[in-house]
Amino acid sequence: MISKDLTKINILFLSAEAHPFIKVGGLGDYAGSLPQAIKSQGDEFPFDIDLRVILPYHNDIHFPNKDIQKVCDISVPKKKGYAKGSIYELFHANIHYYFVKRKGNASGYQTVYNYSSLDDARKYIFFSLASIHFLKEIGWQPHIIHANDWHTATAVKILVSLRETDDFYRQMKSILVIHNLPYLGEGSQPILDNFSVQNSTLQTLPDWARSLPLPIGLDAADKIVAVSPTYAKELHLEEFGDGLAPFFIANQKKITGILNGIDTESWDPAVDNGISNNFSVENIGARRSNKDQVLSQLGFQHADDQPLLILISRLTYQKGIDLLLSGLPGLINRGWFAVILGKGQLEYERGFTVLEQEFPERIKYYSEYNERLARQLYAAGDILLMPSLYEPCGLSQMIAMRYGCVPLARSVGGLKDSINSDDNQMKDGYLFSNADVLSFTSCLNQVLDDFEDKKKWVAIQSRGMRKDFSWQSSAGKYINLYLGLINPNSEK
Ligand code: ADP
Repeated sequence: MISKDLTKINILFLSAEAHPFIKVGGLGDYAGSLPQAIKSQGDEFPFDIDLRVILPYHNDIHFPNKDIQKVCDISVPKKKGYAKGSIYELFHANIHYYFVKRKGNASGYQTVYNYSSLDDARKYIFFSLASIHFLKEIGWQPHIIHANDWHTATAVKILVSLRETDDFYRQMKSILVIHNLPYLGEGSQPILDNFSVQNSTLQTLPDWARSLPLPIGLDAADKIVAVSPTYAKELHLEEFGDGLAPFFIANQKKITGILNGIDTESWDPAVDNGISNNFSVENIGARRSNKDQVLSQLGFQHADDQPLLILISRLTYQKGIDLLLSGLPGLINRGWFAVILGKGQLEYERGFTVLEQEFPERIKYYSEYNERLARQLYAAGDILLMPSLYEPCGLSQMIAMRYGCVPLARSVGGLKDSINSDDNQMKDGYLFSNADVLSFTSCLNQVLDDFEDKKKWVAIQSRGMRKDFSWQSSAGKYINLYLGLINPNSEK
C-alpha cells in the first residue's frame, strides 16, 4: 500500500522525448527541464520527491554517459499472447531515467515521430502499457502517473483498469498534460484493439473520438493540465477544441492551466558556449557582434543597422507559416534580413526555398534541425517571427526574449500569457489578433517602425531579457496539483 504519511512522494513522468537524450520540439525541452525543477522545488516542501522519467528507447537517443543498464524484461498482455520488451535505466543529473524497447525488429524506433501513424501507435501504445506494467516488476509505487500527450495517454487508461483489479495500483492517481491537442493518436485503433484497451463511453466525447488514445486518456485522467492558462480556456472554443470543446466544457473542474518554463541555466546568453559573443541585459551592446557575424557569414551587405528577422520552428500548419510566405515578400522593401531555420511540411520547405531564391541577398533558409545554429540565431536576431494559428504554450518566444530577440507573435495560448504587447504597460513584444496576412503585415510594419527608435527598442529588449521564465513558480503548481490528488484536503 502507498504510505499516507507523505515523507516522500513518488512520480512517474512519461514522455515521448526529453532533452538531453532526444529532442524534436518543445515537449523535449519540457520533459528535460520540468523534472529537474520539480526535484529542486521540492526542497520547499516537507517531503522528498522521487520523480523518475520514462521514455521510449528510440534508435537515435543520445546518452550523456555510458552507465545504461538493463533493469528487466517486460511482457505486456495482448488479446492473444504477450508483447515483449526490455527496460533500461540510466541515472543522470540525480534522476532515474528508464528507456523502453520492444523486442525484435520493432518498427517506429528510427525516429521520434513517424510518417506512419501505425508505426507510431505500435511504439507508443506498447510504451504506455509497458511503463505501467513495469512498475510491478520493480516494485516501485508512484503516487502520481504524469503523462504527456497522446503518446502516453494509454498509460492513464490502463491505470484505471488496473486500479479496479490490483491492489498494487489501487491508490495511484494520474495527470495528463496536453501539449498539442490536434494530435489525438489517429490510426491507433487496431493497436489499441490488439492490446484490448477499451474505448471511452463518455457521452460528452463525440463518437469518432472515443476510440482514440488522447480522448480515452482525457476521460480516464484524474486531472488534465493545459500548458498555459489561456490555452486551458481556449480548449472550450470550437476554434481550438478540435471537436472536443463539449468535453472540456463539461470537465472544467478537472482542467488546470500551468504555464511552461524554460531551463534558464541552459538558455542563458551570458554563459551559452554555443554563441560567439556572450552578453547580458547589463551589456546589451555586446549582443551586436553576434548579428554582424551571422550576416557576414551569409554574405549579406549590412552597412546600416537593418533588422534581422528569424524563425526557428517546426514547419507545420500550426505555426502560421502561410502568413509568413504570403506576407513577407510585400514588405521586402523595408530593408530587413531573414534567416529561417526549420524542417517540416514539404510545401512550406518549398515555399522558403523559393523565397530564398527570389531574394538571395536578404533571405536564408536552413532546412534542418540544428540546436547550435538555433542558439546563434536567438543571440543574433532582432525579431522572432511566431505567427502561430494556435500555440498551447510555445517556448521559442521565451528563449528569444531571454536572448534579447523581440517576439512578434499571434495573440493565442501561451504566447498571450508570456508576451506583453501593451504599449502603455511594460511592453516586451508584439501580438496581433487575427490569423490573416493583413494583421500580420501591419504588426510587422509597426515592429519595423519601432526598431528605428533605438531607445524604445532597447527598453523592449531589456524587459524581455529580465522576465522570469524559470520553472520556479510553475514547478510549485505541479507539486500542489500532485498533493491535491494524493490528499484531496491538502491542496493549497
Ligand atoms: P513546438 O513544441 O510546437 O515545436 P515550442 O516553441 O514549444 O514549439 O518549442 C520549440 C523548441 O524546438 C525550441 O526549443 C526551439 O528552439 C526548438 N526548435 C524548433 N525547430 C528547431 C530547429 N530547426 N533547429 C533547432 N531547434 C529547433
